[in-house]
Amino acid sequence: MNMMVLRYGDDIIVIDAGMMFPESELLGVDLVIPDITYLKQNKQHVRAIVLTHGHEDHIGALPYILRDLNVPIYGSRFTLALVKKRLEEAGLLQSATLREATPGRLVEIGPFEIEFITVTHSTIDCVALAIRTPLGVVIHTGDFKVDQTPVDNIPFDLHTFAKYGSEGVLALFSDSTNVERPGFTPSERTIVPRIEELARSAPRRVVLSCFASSIHRIQQVIDIAERVDRKVAFVGRSMVDNVEIAHSLNYLRIPDGMVVRPQDIRSFEAKKLLILASGSQAEPMSSLSRIAVDSHRFVSVDENDTVILSARIIPGNEKAIFRMLDHMFRRRALVYYDNTAGTIHVSGHASQEEQRLILRLVKPKYFIPVHGEYRHLFRHAALAHQLGAVGEEILLLEDGKCIEFTEDGVVRRDPVPAGRILVDSGSLEEIEEIVVRDRKHLSEEGVVIPIIAIDKHTGKMESAPEIVSRGLMSENGSELMNGAREIVLKTFEQSNLEERADWSVIKEKIRIDLKRYINKHTSKRPLILPVILEV
Ligand SMILES: [Zn+2]
Ligand SMILES: [Zn+2]
Repeated sequence: MNMMVLRYGDDIIVIDAGMMFPESELLGVDLVIPDITYLKQNKQHVRAIVLTHGHEDHIGALPYILRDLNVPIYGSRFTLALVKKRLEEAGLLQSATLREATPGRLVEIGPFEIEFITVTHSTIDCVALAIRTPLGVVIHTGDFKVDQTPVDNIPFDLHTFAKYGSEGVLALFSDSTNVERPGFTPSERTIVPRIEELARSAPRRVVLSCFASSIHRIQQVIDIAERVDRKVAFVGRSMVDNVEIAHSLNYLRIPDGMVVRPQDIRSFEAKKLLILASGSQAEPMSSLSRIAVDSHRFVSVDENDTVILSARIIPGNEKAIFRMLDHMFRRRALVYYDNTAGTIHVSGHASQEEQRLILRLVKPKYFIPVHGEYRHLFRHAALAHQLGAVGEEILLLEDGKCIEFTEDGVVRRDPVPAGRILVDSGSLEEIEEIVVRDRKHLSEEGVVIPIIAIDKHTGKMESAPEIVSRGLMSENGSELMNGAREIVLKTFEQSNLEERADWSVIKEKIRIDLKRYINKHTSKRPLILPVILEV
């Protein structure tokens, strides 16, 4: 959930407004956004939100914070197209001001003059920002790698970085994500040979999953499909949305007659089809997760189908992803998920040599590593120190920490409120702290614990589901609980064996169905904690 604030006198600009998905412990929390207390306190001074690119960890909080902070949003064309979609869904598009920025052209916001600089990354239309202030130029790289052979042939604008470097740069804020990797991050194009080989030799259909925002990857997969004489189909909401947006803006080249509609997938010749699906992180209700347990409406995976996971396994998601892949193995699919036999995924973030290159070109007076865990920031600082390319000082800043640049140098200032806000996207309600939320929940809405006993070997339910509830007041209590038991039973019966055996899937399905049922009958949203007993 990236967000940085730059203030000069009474003028504030915000760089990026990201979100993140909650860890699984945060029951009932849909997403996490940054705490913007400081911005709310200084509302009258905030002039704009400036975006570096369209990844969720940079734009995802916009629909939530715009309610408190309706200021103009600046970004590149594709970035704003994604923002538009989010704001439309949140019903905020009418009241929002979106201003498209073009690399090479300057944008003036209060005392800041901003140049958008083209960088390469795992999505398209990404920029770094050079922000001219009365005290000097500040450069924020956004997310980047230095791809010498980008898929869209729009090169990383090293010249402009060098230009600012020779002019003199006050401060550099640079992406630290991949600081633990030596060398250069390979070009996005390096995935082509292996994926082409797999697609060409695949005996039946190919299901490839990547991030829906990876437009370069999607383009290359479409090109590969064309070369190996396969048609493509897109499944998953985010995949379909992003492909549509990118295609309508001419960022994606899809030959005529190339696309098979989802509803035609089952009847289409398996050897002639490649399916692009979202859900590479095994998100519980995503296409790939559904396909894995054979509950997708349009796609199933059978023996000798090929499944390619062309995405990073984000730490924290390993368990869910490998559980999903196990389902694919059980179906006797040919599964590829790492680079051991040839590259099927490359990172979008700079490795050490690229980070050194940027530091050398920019030669900032002050350097502040951003984007990454604390150890990444620390190691990026160490790398810069070793290189000796920073004129004055390297500063390690954690969330909420402030620094002030003056004519004489840099001063650490008191921190501002920072942290995470937990959001329930259903109610758009902000949750200050999980504990508070749980307490509130328990006191006002109660708790419902559906308990089912599953026979490990047969996958059958051992006895009727039991439901324990506390604090859920209702005049027709027993009737409600009878209905709830029926819902649990129905949800269970309508799930197939693999879903039943995958407890995270079956629990989530029960939670969602019960939540809907109870909310409908009581207007309450109790904490629902499904428990499965293995017998
Ligand atoms: Zn990022
Ligand atoms: Zn990114």
